[in-house]
Amino acid sequence: MHSDRLPGHPHIAYLGDELFLEETPLSALAQQYGTPLFVYSKTAMLTALAAYQQGFAGRQVQICYAMKANSTLGIIQLFAQAGCGFDVVSQGEMTRVLAAGGQASRIIFSGVGKTRAEMRAALHAGVGCFNVESEAELEVLNEVALGLGLQAPVSIRVNPNVDPQTHPYISTGLKGNKFGIAHERVVQTYQRAAALPGLSVQGIDCHIGSQITQEAPYLDALDRMLDLVEAIEAAGVPIHHIDMGGGLGIDYNGETPPQADALWRKLLARLDARGFGQRALMIEPGRSLVGNAGVCITEVLYLKPGEQKNFCIVDAAMNDLPRPAMYQAYHHIVPLKPRTSPPDTWEVVGPICESGDWIGHDRTLSVQQGDWLAVLSAGAYCMSMASNYNTRNRAAEVLVDGTQAHLIRERESYADQIRLEHLPVLTQ
Ligand SMILES: *Cc1c(COP(=O)(O)O)cnc(C)c1O
Repeated sequence: MHSDRLPGHPHIAYLGDELFLEETPLSALAQQYGTPLFVYSKTAMLTALAAYQQGFAGRQVQICYAMKANSTLGIIQLFAQAGCGFDVVSQGEMTRVLAAGGQASRIIFSGVGKTRAEMRAALHAGVGCFNVESEAELEVLNEVALGLGLQAPVSIRVNPNVDPQTHPYISTGLKGNKFGIAHERVVQTYQRAAALPGLSVQGIDCHIGSQITQEAPYLDALDRMLDLVEAIEAAGVPIHHIDMGGGLGIDYNGETPPQADALWRKLLARLDARGFGQRALMIEPGRSLVGNAGVCITEVLYLKPGEQKNFCIVDAAMNDLPRPAMYQAYHHIVPLKPRTSPPDTWEVVGPICESGDWIGHDRTLSVQQGDWLAVLSAGAYCMSMASNYNTRNRAAEVLVDGTQAHLIRERESYADQIRLEHLPVLTQ
């Protein structure tokens, strides 16, 4: 048997004529659990985490998995057991961490629109830190904490305004983004926070964007953060930790983002050079921990060759895999059992009644009706963004560990979908 690894996906390979994830043939899972089906590699996730851990060897760093990338309990449990904390953006995500056995004290609560109810729940649970995103939120959090007789640990999310001209990337750390507090107002905001009795200032936070494939924006952001820490501390407010957010990209289609360990060795050298070597650090990686650990298996329902385009209609759709429709994103699509017949060019599309429901344009594939395909790089921002559009049940999820497969989420049922709805008795 020959083994043929896929570039960027070290845990996925053809062995003989079968696509394997770790030591598990994916066709066996499609057969057992049906399609569309998400399958994740435990080793791929732990290897991605280990790259960060190696980069930080010997340092005081808390890695908080940004769980909006994939918030399934089985995935959260894996990262909790591996020592991660969690970056959450809602009370719902906090509830998931606690349900999966994660510790509240290792939760960072981020997000621009926390409600009072969410603040109360997070204070009751004892989350490690709130990343506060506006001056108005600071005042409300202070009130809520005082109302409970508690002090809220806070970090302020600053907007480092990293220059987009030189670094074209999906950005959240620019002037004009809704995130964080503008550079010019940071020092006075910290002074205000320090004066509020319901708050206890812990750190500073930034998160400059997502799917970042260069190291320069991180180095720029770190320098700006350190300038701010110096200014805030000169104004009399000590900063205990620096949170550099997440955002490191993955290889979807030949991108070459920096490796987490190499990137962090550079960033740590910069911290040391500027005299911040002893400062506690936090990071909030999401996509880079899970994105390339997952695939979505889908069945070819129909082939519809045409004069202008050939359509390959599959049973996964934009409700399962929203990234192509939302961001025009690219995912590799490969067969579970390759055919030797000559390939054609296909538009791979889902069954949803929208022209935006596509999974891949112009793909060279040799396929027949009934074949299974794997959509790669489907571990991040797929299942966590999945919807019930067209009243489609959300897919099942399986976690693979070597030769073992664990069902971590059952396929949703139609009864699940209509459970919360009522038929009113209307007057005629
Ligand atoms: C989404 C998000 C992250 C994670 O981003 P990735 O690109 O998935 O690494 C981290 N921190 C915050 C505040 C976020 O909103």
